[in-house]
Amino acid sequence: ALTDEAVAILSVYDKTGLLDLTKGLIKNNIRLLASGGTAKLIREAGFSVDDVSAITHAPEILSGRVKTLHPAVHAGILARNLESDEKDLAEQNINKVDFVICNLYPFKDTIAKINVTIPEAVEEIDVGGVTLIRAAAKNHSRVTILSDPEDYAGFLQELDRGEISEKQRQHYALKAFEHTADYDATISDFFRKRYAGDGDQQVSLRYGANPHQKPAAAYVKNGRLPFKVLGGAPGYINLMDCLNAWPLVKELKKALNMPAAASFKHVSPAGAAIGVPLSETERKVNMVDDIEGIENSGLAQAYARARGADRMSSFGDIIALSDEVDVPTAKIISREVSDGVIAPSYSKEALEILTKKKSGKYLILQMDEAYEPPSTETRSVYGIQLQQHRNDVQINPKDTFSSVITPKGSSPLPDSALRDLTVATIALKYTQSNSVCYALNGQVIGLGAGQQSRIHCTRLAGDKADNWWMRFHERALNIKWKKGTKRPDKSNAIDLLCGGQVPEEGIEQEDYEKNFEEVPKPFSAEERAEWLKKIGDVVVSSDAFVCFRCLVVND
Ligand code: 5GP
Repeated sequence: ALTDEAVAILSVYDKTGLLDLTKGLIKNNIRLLASGGTAKLIREAGFSVDDVSAITHAPEILSGRVKTLHPAVHAGILARNLESDEKDLAEQNINKVDFVICNLYPFKDTIAKINVTIPEAVEEIDVGGVTLIRAAAKNHSRVTILSDPEDYAGFLQELDRGEISEKQRQHYALKAFEHTADYDATISDFFRKRYAGDGDQQVSLRYGANPHQKPAAAYVKNGRLPFKVLGGAPGYINLMDCLNAWPLVKELKKALNMPAAASFKHVSPAGAAIGVPLSETERKVNMVDDIEGIENSGLAQAYARARGADRMSSFGDIIALSDEVDVPTAKIISREVSDGVIAPSYSKEALEILTKKKSGKYLILQMDEAYEPPSTETRSVYGIQLQQHRNDVQINPKDTFSSVITPKGSSPLPDSALRDLTVATIALKYTQSNSVCYALNGQVIGLGAGQQSRIHCTRLAGDKADNWWMRFHERALNIKWKKGTKRPDKSNAIDLLCGGQVPEEGIEQEDYEKNFEEVPKPFSAEERAEWLKKIGDVVVSSDAFVCFRCLVVND
């Protein structure tokens, strides 16, 4: 219950509802202390109020920069009902404060003004108010803190009934902590944009998810960004791709101890692979048979596989590479249509090749290999903060697939199957949810991601795997291209041929046929079925339950 000498300190910038609150406090015999402007308004309305200086015996100075910052105020707020605290207060002749009513200088409104200067913004950084609010919120077991005029009416109703409940004090304290946190976040955001060198703690992005979403930026709250921009300027989706593709390859490399690569589009992998040596046919299928030195580069073979998984989807990809980029890898990248690459380092020659791409605009990021993100991640969707523990589950052949169920009498899964399951499952971890992935030879061969229906996901992934395998058919391998046919046109034509979608009329047909010296015969249903029987040892992984019917549908 309130004692006779209950004290409230009022210091508000936003004076909404102040006089009604004053009336209510006075009615409850509460002594009012207020800072300059607040006291003036109360006094002018005919209520009795003391200046804070009545207890501090110090005037407001520095044009208001120091108003309430004083031990008489803060000890009064922070004192607990402890004998030692009471003794300290008595010795210093300080009274306890029971209520703090405070809201802050309008930093947000000030910086929202066009062309605001730094000195103007600096003047709006509240110091004493934040201290009042934080002290009162800290001591909420005894003190009530009101930081929002919206709360005055409810507070007075409760006060009229006798006292402010513990639950309500907790509620006001939480609100106060959120208020100061939001206030400080606005201040640090303002200064980050002005003081942090671009690329150091923050990087400006060309635009957000769409070109009209400006401005856009990426930043860390502490320390430095874990990547450096060596070439080009990242866009928002580029960076989303990079920051999903990088952990994928880092994890693949760690799990399987081989160089790894990923090819990302729209925040899902189109392909991912480790550097399993390519056979001659695989080199041809992946369109890298003319790359010098590829057989000695695990990284180049990994990227050839990742890019080759689904060439249609990989058009304009973001590439992640687990190891230092060498010349063969850079040469593959240099002639593909791609938006950017992220890797821990680049050899001098490789960097020279890549910086020439897209007339110097090719995005090249260098990632700090040692960087570990915090275990909690938060994102904001439609103004709501979503928070979760990061998906840091470790996937590796030994632990993840330790209890494999095989039919009675059959031999256990070979290492190659465990390897491919690891590749498929790690790739799934970095897709948009509801995904299914087929893998073989250390690479993704078909991935269906983010479909609303799991049946569709499975069908999509299965069709992609089928098309991938059709590319190994002699007819696809021996296509006679017209001279000068570009790589993307070849990829499209192969996709139509192998996907059984050869156009049979109109400009689509013309467009298709113009690529060939000799137009290949489309695959008949029988030829297709016959060839598809020849693929084996494929693994499938799903990020959730796959119903038996899904797989049958796809059989
Ligand atoms: P008033 O209008 O009463 O003069 O000032 C109220 C504002 O001053 C409130 O927004 C409060 O947060 C802020 N304030 C209170 N004490 C101090 C202080 O010691 N220094 C500064 N800079 N601001 C204060």
